[in-house]
Amino acid sequence: MAYRYSTAVTDCLFCKIVAKEIPADVVHESDRTLAFRDINPQAPTHVLVIPKEHHSDAAALATADDGLADDVLKAAHAVAVQEGVAETGYRVVFNTGAGAGQTVFHVHAHVLGGRNLTWPPG
Ligand code: 5GP
Ligand code: ZN
Repeated sequence: MAYRYSTAVTDCLFCKIVAKEIPADVVHESDRTLAFRDINPQAPTHVLVIPKEHHSDAAALATADDGLADDVLKAAHAVAVQEGVAETGYRVVFNTGAGAGQTVFHVHAHVLGGRNLTWPPG
C-alpha cells in the first residue's frame, strides 16, 4: 500500500533503470511501461516488462485498478511480436513472492521465448 502511487522508490533497482540511473538494453517503451533484456537470460528471448510506476509485485499491480496491468500485458505481447516469438510460442511469467523466486520487488513480467519451454517449470 505504501508504494502504490509512488513513482520512484529509493534503492529499487528497476526504478533506477526507469530513471536511467542504471543502464539497460531497452527494447520497448510506452507511456507507462518499459521493457529491457534480462541481464541473465534464460532463453534466446528473455525480456523484462515493467510498469514505470513502482508496484512491488503482481498482486499490487492487480489492485492498481487503473488499467496498468493491462498495459503491462499488452507491452509483453508487443515485445513477443517484435522479438519474433509470438508465432512460435512464448511464456509470460510473474514470479510473485520470494517463495516463487521473486528477487526484485518491482513487478516485472518475464517474456521468454526462442526455445522449447518445458512444463511444469522447475
Ligand atoms: P525475479 O527473480 O525477481 O523474478 O527476476 C528478476 C530478474 O531480474 C532476474 O531474471 C535477473 O536476472 C534480472 N536482473 C537482476 N538485476 C538486473 C539488472 O541490473 N539489469 C537487468 N537487465 N536485469 C536484472
Ligand atoms: Zn521500483
